[in-house]
Amino acid sequence: MAGEGRLRKTRNFGVVAHIDAGKTTFTERVLYYTGRTHKIGEVHEGTAVMDWMAEEQERGITITSAATTCEWQGHTLNIIDTPGHVDFTIEVERSLRVLDGVIAVFCAVGGVEPQSETVWHQADRYRVPKIAFINKMDRIGADFKAVLVQMKERLGANPLPLTIPWGAEDNFRGVIDLISMEALVWEDEELGATYVRQPIPEEMAEDAAQAREALLEAVAEIDDAIMELYLGEEEIPSKDIKAAIRKACCGLKLVPVFAGSALRNKGVQPVLDAVVDYLPSPLDVPPVEGTDPGNGELERRQADDGAPLSALAFKVQMDQGRKLVYVRVYSGTLKAGAEVYNVAKGVNEKVARILRMHANKRERLDAAKAGEIVGVMGLKNTSTGDTLATKDRPIMLEPIDTYEPVISVA
Ligand code: GDP
Repeated sequence: MAGEGRLRKTRNFGVVAHIDAGKTTFTERVLYYTGRTHKIGEVHEGTAVMDWMAEEQERGITITSAATTCEWQGHTLNIIDTPGHVDFTIEVERSLRVLDGVIAVFCAVGGVEPQSETVWHQADRYRVPKIAFINKMDRIGADFKAVLVQMKERLGANPLPLTIPWGAEDNFRGVIDLISMEALVWEDEELGATYVRQPIPEEMAEDAAQAREALLEAVAEIDDAIMELYLGEEEIPSKDIKAAIRKACCGLKLVPVFAGSALRNKGVQPVLDAVVDYLPSPLDVPPVEGTDPGNGELERRQADDGAPLSALAFKVQMDQGRKLVYVRVYSGTLKAGAEVYNVAKGVNEKVARILRMHANKRERLDAAKAGEIVGVMGLKNTSTGDTLATKDRPIMLEPIDTYEPVISVA
């Protein structure tokens, strides 16, 4: 299969939240931490990045770009924007159609609020795997455990904490990583502060041991090999625990949960690690389905650069006076300068330019391959929901509102 290595290192996900839970703050931190990896060694690094963030915000690009590409741990992360407001339910559904996983941000005080409930159930309907970030642990009234209970009761979810908070409110110090069994402490609250690993403090020893036990039990439940080690009271390797969690997360059996405070720059990096560790790659989700418009037959296409082209336009934006169409390529390769066939409209279109949208720059590409999410210029007739293919191998991808993939990880 062409492009397998790259596909394994791709994650297409969105951030969903009830308004005010901290989605914007969280996303900005993500862009900051991921952007920072390219800038290490620069003088006045922090200021430079802060500046572009302020600038981009003024122009509204960071927030309104329908998809933003960044890098973390050698992986390419495409963050697909999902509207935060419940009025945009259809738009949320559209974005859920093109992403493979979700980070749900909850407020540690407000908990599971009505809008998060709506989006959560939509994501369930599309069988999208999720991880959860319980934000605002620094606020008065923050209650991590209460949110876990609400996730079970209101969302029917099976939340599994992988970090738990050390302290809360003004005393929110950091988190306990239940896989490495260490405390992660952000020594200052400056943007960009990285954490240090410390032994678990005495005051957290009991909570940590209990939460670790719950984690091992949950993982043993879903993995026979781990169950054997667990029952034999043997050491369970972290990589096996992670592999089991990945399988269960992608299979919608559990939701890894993380604690933190985006505003205070604590707890965000472990969530980025979790995107890489637990959310599916385009190869972990089922092949995209569509019909051959010629004979109406069902066709499935694998994420494979060498397969016939199938791509979906999921958002159209005006960009500095020009039409920019956001596209997810499911299979094959979309080439700049080439013609593509808009199956819905029955016309050929010229791909004038392909852009990968980063938070602080846009990069021109010669081609967009399977699993990639890009902005395309030149598609005069394309609107949201249209399929792009080649004229000799046309396919009409499932209409956005009926698509219900089944996710399985080998
Ligand atoms: P959104 O509506 O979900 O995008 O939420 P925002 O990111 O705009 O955050 C809403 C408000 O909550 C803003 O005033 C943020 O500064 C604040 N906020 C976000 N994260 C935190 C946090 O971790 N702790 C506290 N105390 N406030 C936060």
